[in-house]
Amino acid sequence: MLVKPSLIVEDITTIDLQALKAAGVKGFIFDLDNTIMAPHSGALEDRIETWLTILQADGFKCLVLSNNKKAEYCQLAEKVLNIPVISHAAKPRRAKFRQALEILGLQATEVAMVGDRPLTDIWVGQRMGSYTILVDPLIKHSEKVYIKFLRGLERLFVNATKC
Ligand SMILES: [Mg+2]
Repeated sequence: MLVKPSLIVEDITTIDLQALKAAGVKGFIFDLDNTIMAPHSGALEDRIETWLTILQADGFKCLVLSNNKKAEYCQLAEKVLNIPVISHAAKPRRAKFRQALEILGLQATEVAMVGDRPLTDIWVGQRMGSYTILVDPLIKHSEKVYIKFLRGLERLFVNATKC
C-alpha cells in the first residue's frame, strides 16, 4: 500500500484553484474534522468560510465526507457550512465516496479529495482515482500526545512513499 497525495499543503486556503481547474477538477470532497472545521467545534473559521465561498462562486461543487458518527453534529456542520455532509463514511472504504460522487454528479477523476489523514482521506481518494490533497490538521497544538504520535507515524509513511 502506497499513499501518495497528489498535493500536500499546510493551509487549505492556499490550494491553487485555477491549477486544479486546469487539471480537470470540478468539485471537492472534504473531510470534516480538522480539515475544514476544528473537531467538536461546530464552528467555521472566517478565513475558511471565505475560501469556501470563493471556490463555490468559481463553480466548484462541494461535499463533506466524514467518518464522524454523530448524526446531530454532522447536521449542525451541514447547516454551518451550507454544504451537504455525509456522515459514517467509513473511509477508506469506497461505498460512501461513490455516493458522494453521485450527489455531486461528477466522476472520481473530476474531484479532489481533501483531508488531514493519509490512511483514511487520502487513501480512499487514491483508491478511487481522484486527485488527493493532504492538509495539515487545523488544530495541531491542542491534540493529545498519542494522537500527535500517530499523526507523526502517518506522515512518516507518506514521506517514505514520496521517492
Ligand atoms: Mg480529519
